[in-house]
Amino acid sequence: MSAVRYDALVIGAGFSGLYMLHRLRELGLSVIAVEAGENVGGTWLFNRYPGARCDIESIEYSYSFSEEIQQEWVWTETMPAQPEIEAYLNFVADKLDLRRDIRLNTRVTAMAFDADEACWHLDTDTGARFTASHVVAASGILSVPLEPDVPGMDSFDGASLFTACWPKAGFDLAGKRVGVIGTGSTGVQLIPVVAREAGQLTVFQRSAAYTLPWDVRPLPAAELDDLKAAYPAIRAAQREHPVGAARLSAFSLLLDMLARPPIKSATREEQLRAIDEHGVMGALNWGDVFFDIEANRMAAKLYGEAIARIVKDPVTAAALVPTHPFGCKRPIIDQGYYETFNRDNVTLVDLRSGPIRAVTPTGISTEQGDHDLDVIIYATGFDAMTGALSRIDITGRDGASLRQVWQDEGPTSYLGLAVAGFPNLFIVQAPGSPSAATNFVAALEQHVEWIGDCIAHLRDQGHRTIEASPEAQREWIEHTTSLVEPTVLAHPSCNSWYNGANVPGKKRRYMAYTAGIPEYRRRCDEIAATGYPGFELA
Ligand code: NAP
Repeated sequence: MSAVRYDALVIGAGFSGLYMLHRLRELGLSVIAVEAGENVGGTWLFNRYPGARCDIESIEYSYSFSEEIQQEWVWTETMPAQPEIEAYLNFVADKLDLRRDIRLNTRVTAMAFDADEACWHLDTDTGARFTASHVVAASGILSVPLEPDVPGMDSFDGASLFTACWPKAGFDLAGKRVGVIGTGSTGVQLIPVVAREAGQLTVFQRSAAYTLPWDVRPLPAAELDDLKAAYPAIRAAQREHPVGAARLSAFSLLLDMLARPPIKSATREEQLRAIDEHGVMGALNWGDVFFDIEANRMAAKLYGEAIARIVKDPVTAAALVPTHPFGCKRPIIDQGYYETFNRDNVTLVDLRSGPIRAVTPTGISTEQGDHDLDVIIYATGFDAMTGALSRIDITGRDGASLRQVWQDEGPTSYLGLAVAGFPNLFIVQAPGSPSAATNFVAALEQHVEWIGDCIAHLRDQGHRTIEASPEAQREWIEHTTSLVEPTVLAHPSCNSWYNGANVPGKKRRYMAYTAGIPEYRRRCDEIAATGYPGFELA
């Protein structure tokens, strides 16, 4: 098939891709979005598992660029569940008439930069080929599920379900013996819901979670109307907030902790009062936990005491206490997670006392014993930040392979937006961007607008290419790394998808920019206003 040439091609039609497509179209460019899924929605299309929900309030986890969209759309809960976000993104696609420029069920498999023509040639799994002067990868930071490498997975006679590609029609778990592997954000959301449905639930936990209880409530129409009327102030506050979410969220909670007194100078009575009054939240809510590993361990011990007040069986309660520092993994909020372990039909298997040996035809065999199951649910995480683009064969200038660059140098980029050696390729929320440490929607809007303005500038000034310089890239990564060095995030015992530790062989580096979106925006705007230093425009 012959290639069609566009000014720009967007990879992905999730939250980032939809807005990028709209923005570039508004600039008068010919643009197409190519999406592997059967519909728009990205991560909010695939992660349909029971209990899937955002942990940021709906009125902040939504596009701010269109007054019409934010006034018309009706959120029904304070924190939106997956079906509502999926429906919202479909509403946006229709409202902005985006579908006519989206090619669904089409996965980009390879792309190569043509230096003579200053464009990218792209191949897809349908055989359709495209050529575009600019490519914007809006392929998501948590879009490639990580299948665990457990021997015998294929031998299981029951049903194997993966949270990141949950069956569209749902799955009836009623009365079944269900095993869940994984207790990250996904597992913690899923487990209470499955426990209510399944006959028997066995949770296989390798790392215990830090998770804080949270009330999600319906948004009455009158309250939503008031919020909509206050949108100018809400969006302004959000824009100035380091995590892009000024109202309460898991992220803003962490930020608020920095202003709290240190646990190290709290008396035993003060510590106990904190958990008397605020439960598990009170155990962690101290100003020194992010910077002092000893303080962090004190908080973890107090956290264990708070769990023991909720979970009745002392052995289970002790097994639920995390052994990694608080803050290393993504903060989690939950609805009834610890209470779930008081149910008669729920059993916790602490894999720290004996790991999984294999999946067998009848269930899961661990070094502590065997468990017969009808269903195994894998909530085992993602190859984050670099996973989606590493699975595309991307060849830049002089044959450089992006997969190889990230393998050899680690997850690198300039400004979390572009990689040296890959001209005219922008990445929405690449490693080194605020992304994973913030409200993703606020972060992506800033990226989409900056990228759109940059492409318009190139067009207006007659530049054919833009490319990050290796020096600017090295300095940027040094800067982002230096930001986390004084914190527990740099501690060797911090293993998470944030630093690639969950993927065997991935080079370890903390991948998010942690100085906040306003400071990040200031830097990006300054670079645009001063002729794009750190980039070569030709
Ligand atoms: P995750 O945080 O990486 O958790 C994966 C879990 O699977 C961990 O408990 C991990 O244990 C376990 N695991 C992986 N391989 C295993 C194996 N072979 N044997 C036993 N256990 C294994 O992934 P996630 O829960 O999908 O969350 C990823 C991110 O998605 C979150 O951090 C968040 O950013 C986003 N998310 C957000 C929400 C929300 O908004 N509420 C909900 C879901 C997801 P180890 O920790 O020991 O590796």
